[in-house]
Amino acid sequence: MPLKYRYEEFTWPEIRDAVARQPVAVIPVGTIEQHGPHLPLITDVLTATEMARRAVERIPDEAILLPSVFYAFNEHHLDFPGTIAIDGTTFTNYVTDIGRSLAHHGFRKILLVNGHGSNVPFLDVAARNITNRTDSICAMVPWWNLVPKTLLKDLRESDFPGGMAHGCELETSVLLYLRPDLVQMDKAAQDINFQKSEFIYWDLEAGSPVFFQEWFSRYSKTGTVGDPTKATTEKGRRFVEAVLERMIALIRDFRAREIRPRVDHHRGRP
Ligand SMILES: [Zn+2]
Repeated sequence: MPLKYRYEEFTWPEIRDAVARQPVAVIPVGTIEQHGPHLPLITDVLTATEMARRAVERIPDEAILLPSVFYAFNEHHLDFPGTIAIDGTTFTNYVTDIGRSLAHHGFRKILLVNGHGSNVPFLDVAARNITNRTDSICAMVPWWNLVPKTLLKDLRESDFPGGMAHGCELETSVLLYLRPDLVQMDKAAQDINFQKSEFIYWDLEAGSPVFFQEWFSRYSKTGTVGDPTKATTEKGRRFVEAVLERMIALIRDFRAREIRPRVDHHRGRP
């Protein structure tokens, strides 16, 4: 029988035994929000979950997959129907509590796999909270950071910046590969209408030097930012496979990472 890897399917004695082999606890985090007229509200949950699931499934003795966090921070999308927004402090505390529980049970390495751009600052704080307040360490990775730059150079057809931002060439390709039944390509349209400046723009390949986020409806008519018309299933397959390879390497690297002892320099003065 293949090894179990979904946390919620374990019994408590099985979790106790699993902790002994110190798997990395992998938590996918998405959001429920509009992704243009062609992609479903679950897009960011689906990408983070499915990439994390496929990675953990391949190395079930080294990692364990937690149930996904569905709801997150996206207040700026509320002008579009369907979006469910959680206050940033609530969201940060919620994820911190999940990590603290895992640390309490003895999981020493916790990895947040993020599928939503605006989760980044909050998950960064949650990961720091977990690391600072427990004996465990927690890190966060947005999945698109694991797409190799060389692959983007080969596959990307949309303009930079803007072509890969939201419901874009990248996300739509990934969805076409993972869940083609949920993609309505006949409704996909290019929407790169934000005010382009040297300092402020949106793109998943590389962020702008300035952190800024305003109401999404101020710069997108359709709910998309990017060019989903350039998306294909084959690009999606290559993006996902590349991310899986990097994610497995990351899980192994993080699992092997030494947690060095803290040193309290208040004491020990001559
Ligand atoms: Zn998204």
